[in-house]
Amino acid sequence: MSAALAAGDGLVDESERLLEFLYVCPVGLVEMNEAGAVSLMNPLAARLLMPIAPPSALANLFEALEPYAPDLRYMASSFADERGTVCENRRIHLRQGRSDTPEVLACSLIKIERDRIMAVLTDVTEQVAQERRLKEAESWFSMILAGVNDFALLSLDATGRISAWNVSGERQTGYVSRDVLGRTMNVFYFPDEAVQGRALQQVDFARRDGWHIDEGWRRRKDGSRYWCQSLVSALEEKTGEVTGFSVVLRDVTQSKTNAEEIRRLITTDQLTGVSNRARFYELGEAELTRWKRFGQPLSALMIDLDHFKRINDTHGHAAGDEVLKQVAVALQTTLRSIDIIGRLGGEEFAILLPSIELAGAEMVAERLRRVISGLIPTFEGTAIPVTLSIGCSELSAEAADLDALLRQADRGLYSAKEGGRNRVVVQRGAAA
Ligand code: GH3
Ligand code: MG
Ligand code: MG
Repeated sequence: MSAALAAGDGLVDESERLLEFLYVCPVGLVEMNEAGAVSLMNPLAARLLMPIAPPSALANLFEALEPYAPDLRYMASSFADERGTVCENRRIHLRQGRSDTPEVLACSLIKIERDRIMAVLTDVTEQVAQERRLKEAESWFSMILAGVNDFALLSLDATGRISAWNVSGERQTGYVSRDVLGRTMNVFYFPDEAVQGRALQQVDFARRDGWHIDEGWRRRKDGSRYWCQSLVSALEEKTGEVTGFSVVLRDVTQSKTNAEEIRRLITTDQLTGVSNRARFYELGEAELTRWKRFGQPLSALMIDLDHFKRINDTHGHAAGDEVLKQVAVALQTTLRSIDIIGRLGGEEFAILLPSIELAGAEMVAERLRRVISGLIPTFEGTAIPVTLSIGCSELSAEAADLDALLRQADRGLYSAKEGGRNRVVVQRGAAA
């Protein structure tokens, strides 16, 4: 409890009431100073943060959230007013992948006086999932309306067996009624997926949620494949009992490329075009699996632009953005196509170098450093030189997962900054 709230005559009652409130409050509340040092945290906040940070890291909120929202610290420290909203419902993706822990938190920071900030944390995992489902539905329905000619309709009974079939289905799949009536939608799946029960899973999801959308390769009667989007919606009696399902199948082989375009949009950083954080980690996990399975080396570079604030201050934010873009393009064209580059924070990039050991990583880093220092980006005719500091690390027994690998590279980066910037520092497996 902060001194200001707890001390003073006549405030005891109030502070007790406040404590009670904090205890039952349905959102996570954290009181801290501008540097994130926590003075008070209610039980819900502790519960939300515990799965992502060890108890020792909970002493500082910015530290606990550093891997997920590194910009929070900067937002707080650069907030000039004495009080006010520093950020509102900033979504923080936690990448837990476990059903019992939150995946997305919403964080609001409210500065209540100088050097005193309240953080409000809410678990919005379910809300985000719902939003995503709604968005899917929206785009889906608009697509149905857009391509009136190319969908097939069929009905399933309550157990998921095909009970009605018409010419639209015949046109799309080549099957006629007697081939499919009484069978499950497995008939449209390739054998290995049919074995996994994918068709019935769709029906189960629709029974639970009211409807379900899926897409993937399906098989026509003649064995040819097509990319099919399917919508299964449950038909319910007033009693809530599901009596059957109606199904729409769309052949969207042509527009699969559109789907890939959408995927590109949600996985890349809009400003620079490199992978965003979520995508970077997704690709990184795949590399990690390869490392574990086949023992291929994997190295990482952490990159931070030098004196970038100065660039913003001197030339303006738009110029800073342009420099970031040009740097990202230069990094990308210097790297191999299998290297993975992600924008992890404002002017911080991380790079994974599959099949490259530490010595090789140092050479790559040095090449990148030279390329960028010679690049001299321009904005509206003004040359804006910029340099990089880079830390390098390699996966090893001491740094055996992605976070540890990046932390190690980050220590190298820190040394590079300390050492005067525009340099590369290799970080070998020192203890964390
Ligand atoms: P250092 O050499 O120590 O890294 O100095 P620095 O000035 O780069 O310091 P720091 O990394 O702390 O500051 C990064 C600055 O980058 C803070 C912020 O103003 C700016 N920044 C972050 N994201 C963006 C962005 O998307 N566009 C622009 N223009 N600036 C950004
Ligand atoms: Mg910097
Ligand atoms: Mg930085």
